[in-house]
Amino acid sequence: MRDPLAAALSTIVGAEHVITDPAVRATYETDWTGRFRGSAHLVVRPGSTAEVASVVQACAQAGATIVPQGGNTGLVAGAVPHGSVVLSTRRLSAVEDVEHATGQVTVGAGATLAQVQDHAARSGLRVGVDLAARGSATIGGMIATDAGGIHAIRYGTMRYALVGVEAVLADGSLVGRLGGLGRDPVAALVAGSEGTLGIVTRARLRLIPAWPERATILLAFDALAAAVAAVPVLRARLPDLEALEAFDRTCLDLAAARPGARDPFAGRAAADVFVLVEVAANRPLVDELVGAVEDVDGVLDAVVAADDPDRRRLWALRDGIADAIATAGIPHKLDVGLPLDRLESFVAALRPAVAAVDPAARTFVFGHLGLGNLHVNVVGPAADDERVDDAVLRLVLEHGGEIGAEHGIGRAKARWMNLSHTAAELALRDRLKRALDPDGLLNPGVLAP
Ligand SMILES: Cc1cc2nc3c(=O)[nH]c(=O)nc-3n(C[C@H](O)[C@H](O)[C@H](O)COP(=O)(O)OP(=O)(O)OC[C@H]3O[C@@H](n4cnc5c(N)ncnc54)[C@H](O)[C@@H]3O)c2cc1C
Repeated sequence: MRDPLAAALSTIVGAEHVITDPAVRATYETDWTGRFRGSAHLVVRPGSTAEVASVVQACAQAGATIVPQGGNTGLVAGAVPHGSVVLSTRRLSAVEDVEHATGQVTVGAGATLAQVQDHAARSGLRVGVDLAARGSATIGGMIATDAGGIHAIRYGTMRYALVGVEAVLADGSLVGRLGGLGRDPVAALVAGSEGTLGIVTRARLRLIPAWPERATILLAFDALAAAVAAVPVLRARLPDLEALEAFDRTCLDLAAARPGARDPFAGRAAADVFVLVEVAANRPLVDELVGAVEDVDGVLDAVVAADDPDRRRLWALRDGIADAIATAGIPHKLDVGLPLDRLESFVAALRPAVAAVDPAARTFVFGHLGLGNLHVNVVGPAADDERVDDAVLRLVLEHGGEIGAEHGIGRAKARWMNLSHTAAELALRDRLKRALDPDGLLNPGVLAP
């Protein structure tokens, strides 16, 4: 006999948008890394805001919890269901015309970043947040995680791009303001709430200029200390600094081994740390960039992108790191924030800390250097073995850092929140949740274990 909830949801969205077949559900039940696997009661794919509200009400009546899911590229298991209904936003992908007078656009929560970037580019504009998962990550997911990415050093995280949202709360009510005048308190509430306080259905974004001129350089350093010391110099010398990304030798070797890629420093000076620097504006920038780099100490070697294909080759190395690591094994992904002046001592202590747990583990470090945001990836320990996560996150806290930087907390790090947050902060989190979602309908286990 058919599941009564599936039957109720079918009357709202149409039977073809209620997925109960385990084989089809499977892609919604496993995260991008393959490390986190769950199981969904069913997957429902509403096609409008009104359908989202009705789905939420039907689930509430049936006592079924809901996991909102966009592109499922999140890296902290926040969209992985454990018996919940998965509410996929992918059909909410409509994009409205860019409003030229304000440089704003209203888009569906299920539109991918790449889709919105292409749309904005036709008006000479773009979204200030960019990340390697752009082809799949959705605007709703990026708001929910307050995504950062490669340009956060200049434009901030997703919440800075947000003028307003439309969201459905756990009781099915519709809130938010898309009028474009800002001051939408709901936008501030849902940004970074990881699907626990409301389901974003549409968003109004502030776009930025698509600069006509861009200059890019990859720097090689013999040690992280020199790369960290370069940050304030480059920030001071380059007012149009747009990206400042770092990766270690292990990452470069893996990324350069991918088909079509190569190590631009092959056969030249041995280096351990690489920093990709990019500036963008409406004037030629190469001389300014090269001049600034001349003021940086400890640069062993450098490759300047001569043209767009060259630039794409350098960025392909950075963008390809996550995929390259995934081919080495199922990674434990630990996205953390460190004060810049503690970053070097953290990284020095990192490999011994990982080796103490698993001597055979391989550790890769890359990230958004300008913001002290590191992605520590460890390959080797079993997916369900959390000892290495524990060791790394405790090391982060010992160094005055944050256990969740741009990817959020999700389920993966929820159990460490009592170490990283004060009792008052945890009480505030719980009070907010109780006020907005007293029955714990939305994303149970995310942000709170
Ligand atoms: C190769 C790669 C590179 C990445 N690089 C970056 C990076 O540079 N910076 C960065 O910040 N992240 C990065 N990420 C992580 C990921 O892309 C972001 O977290 C992104 O914001 C997730 O979007 P999504 O649509 O895939 O969300 P999902 O994975 O589907 O969901 C993520 C969280 O948001 C919630 N959610 C999703 N949609 C909604 C909605 N409409 N309303 C309410 N809650 C919702 C989910 O419940 C879950 O908690 C990367 C991921 C990959 C695979």
